[in-house]
Amino acid sequence: MCGIFGYFGPKKNATEIVIDGLKKLEYRGYDSWGVAYKTKDDIKIHRQIGKIGEAHLVVEDVEDIEESIAIGHSRWATHGGVTQANAHPHTTENREIVLAHNGIIENYLELKEVLVQKGHIFTSETDSEVLAHLIEEEMKNDNFLSATKKALHQVEGRYAALVISKKENKIIASRRGSPLIIGIGEDGERFIASDIPAFLKHTKKVQYLDDNELVVIDAQATTFYNLETDEKVEKRIIEIEWTEESAEKGDFKHFMLKEIMEQKETLYRAINQDAGLIEQVADAIKNAFGTYLIGCGTAGKVCMTAEYMFSSIAKKHVNTAFGSEFPNYHHFLTNKSLVIAVSQSGETADTLEALEIAKAKGAKIISIVNVETSTMARMSDIVIPIKAGPEKAVASTKATTSQLAILMLVAYAAADRLYEGKEILVSAAGQINDMLNPRYEEHIQQLAEKIQHAESMYIIGRASNYPMALESAIKLQEVSYIHAEGFAGGELKHGPIALISQGTPCIVLVGADETRKAILSNAMEIRARGGYIIGVSPQKEEVFDYWIRVPDCETASPIVNIIPVQILAYQLALLRKNDPDMPRNLAKSVTVK
Ligand code: GLU
Repeated sequence: MCGIFGYFGPKKNATEIVIDGLKKLEYRGYDSWGVAYKTKDDIKIHRQIGKIGEAHLVVEDVEDIEESIAIGHSRWATHGGVTQANAHPHTTENREIVLAHNGIIENYLELKEVLVQKGHIFTSETDSEVLAHLIEEEMKNDNFLSATKKALHQVEGRYAALVISKKENKIIASRRGSPLIIGIGEDGERFIASDIPAFLKHTKKVQYLDDNELVVIDAQATTFYNLETDEKVEKRIIEIEWTEESAEKGDFKHFMLKEIMEQKETLYRAINQDAGLIEQVADAIKNAFGTYLIGCGTAGKVCMTAEYMFSSIAKKHVNTAFGSEFPNYHHFLTNKSLVIAVSQSGETADTLEALEIAKAKGAKIISIVNVETSTMARMSDIVIPIKAGPEKAVASTKATTSQLAILMLVAYAAADRLYEGKEILVSAAGQINDMLNPRYEEHIQQLAEKIQHAESMYIIGRASNYPMALESAIKLQEVSYIHAEGFAGGELKHGPIALISQGTPCIVLVGADETRKAILSNAMEIRARGGYIIGVSPQKEEVFDYWIRVPDCETASPIVNIIPVQILAYQLALLRKNDPDMPRNLAKSVTVK
């Protein structure tokens, strides 16, 4: 969560570069933002609440500096309300150092107590401010670098932090659990950010900071240290493939719509994987003593869908758990267990923690990620990249269908029928290509207009479409803010049907399989209680009040069924005047626990 951006280099417009970078990171957090930049003998800080939008800052006293240094932060509050005082960067009463922090310092209360006793005056309610005071306290006896190292040794929890000092021309950065990537530009220029798209227009050459590492960026070099051993670490420079355009909206009004429409191509890219890699994962599942699929939010629903796919396609049982819950299952993990993590960013804190626990037990780790060089990818024995390109809208769309496609391929490979799976998916991708046209969007928009004032919506599905009903609910909640819940069709009569009243919109995801009749019966039961039935199905059925056609894609039905719901959620967001790319209270890449 939260976006961090730092600049070190010769350009005088460092602050402008940082603000521009923050705008590209805003999907990670957007309740408030701030920047700090160095002048000849001071550091100026600007902070404000709200989205960064078109912000432009007039800077002072930067004409006669040798190197420009600026850091910025867009916040997703964890500790302390959304106020200017809580916005980052944070400093201390002496303004010796200034800091931008992503994550949670878990022992901040204990540390704060000691610091207050020593006379430090706190001006925010954040956990982050503690780290600024702690470094400054250590600087009473040490230089900036050693003081920062000593302070970081005292903090518990996860963090990515950028620190600058009034006295020295450098940026010190460190991470434990939250991402930080260094971009190497021209003329000694260096960028440091939470995600690559933030500096993609300046450079494609990157160096990754790993957990428990610290980097010093100054005029001489970019020097990496292992915080545990205090030894220097050599880092490779990696050239990344993403283009600047792929991380921009182009002609689309919102990233969410762009990413929904991109599914025509992203699915092909996911399917055209190295077959050897897919087989390797399938073999790992066959040989494992227990396979666990883990993910959070939408990725968690992808895992649940895959559980059904493995059952029906490969006749294999795999277990699913949410990243945040998985640590509670550690009791039965062994070095024969296999854990497959699914994450768009590869930085989801809850999933990372689950992997750390599994790794400690000697389990094999596989990850299915969009960011191939992410922390998760780097800690895995095998990585399958989904190759969807940057996904910037908070609500995941193209990454979801690509993850589903890959897991479906693995299920077919586990059944020794990879080729058949590929054929079904290629045909599905072609049909999705035909489906995603302006008339289709219009048809869904008409539905959105009808139901835009609904207080609640329900979505039902069976088998692999049940987790997609749960995912549909997430999509609708995230961007339309309408109360939405997903249920297994058969569960309705055991309680939730009491919620149905006259006109309640209910989406029915009809599977292209043996569950069709049963889910239609469940739709009938809802209709009999006054529900308004929206059918997502290859064929028109008697019970539907509104029909959204999807192609008949056999086992790929959950992949095609979720797409119209993504469009509906987007249309509802617009009608209800919500920003679909940056929904309230949410942020992409959940890097806090
Ligand atoms: N815990 C810090 C705060 O609440 C940082 C949150 C973030 O990562 O944006 O301000």
